[in-house]
Amino acid sequence: MNIAENTVVDIDYVLTVDGEVVDESEEGQPLSYLHGANNIIPGLENALMGKTLGDSLEVTVSPEDGYGEYDPENVQELSKEDFEDEIEEGETYYAESSDGSILPFKVTKIEGDHIVADFNPELAGKTLHFQVTVRGVRAATAEELEHGHVHGEDDEHE
Ligand code: ZN
Repeated sequence: MNIAENTVVDIDYVLTVDGEVVDESEEGQPLSYLHGANNIIPGLENALMGKTLGDSLEVTVSPEDGYGEYDPENVQELSKEDFEDEIEEGETYYAESSDGSILPFKVTKIEGDHIVADFNPELAGKTLHFQVTVRGVRAATAEELEHGHVHGEDDEHE
């Protein structure tokens, strides 16, 4: 079976950015995703289209097909007073937006009673290099298609 829309795909992967490994699947625990459901970044999903079990490929993904360009407007100054906890430079924190979604941000600087918060994704603006091996391809179940994600053997969720 070849990878196509509505297939569930298992991949082993190593993600390298600027010559450093930043993420990889664990030995014997490939990442499962539903192809065509935006479970993974578009650049990687497109490259896997049509591949089959055992295929290995190297994929270079530009920022626009990955985590987006780095946007200076996503960097904001916040008041230290708005935080209950001690804030440390270089750490990641979470803010709740007006619509209730949770937005991670990294504190890049602390200046007096202000902090500089960077809401860009960690890998924004980066070119991503993936080494990928296809470990499984199967048809998705009706329930998986309805939910838009892969179900494990004893999946418990709403
Ligand atoms: Zn589900």
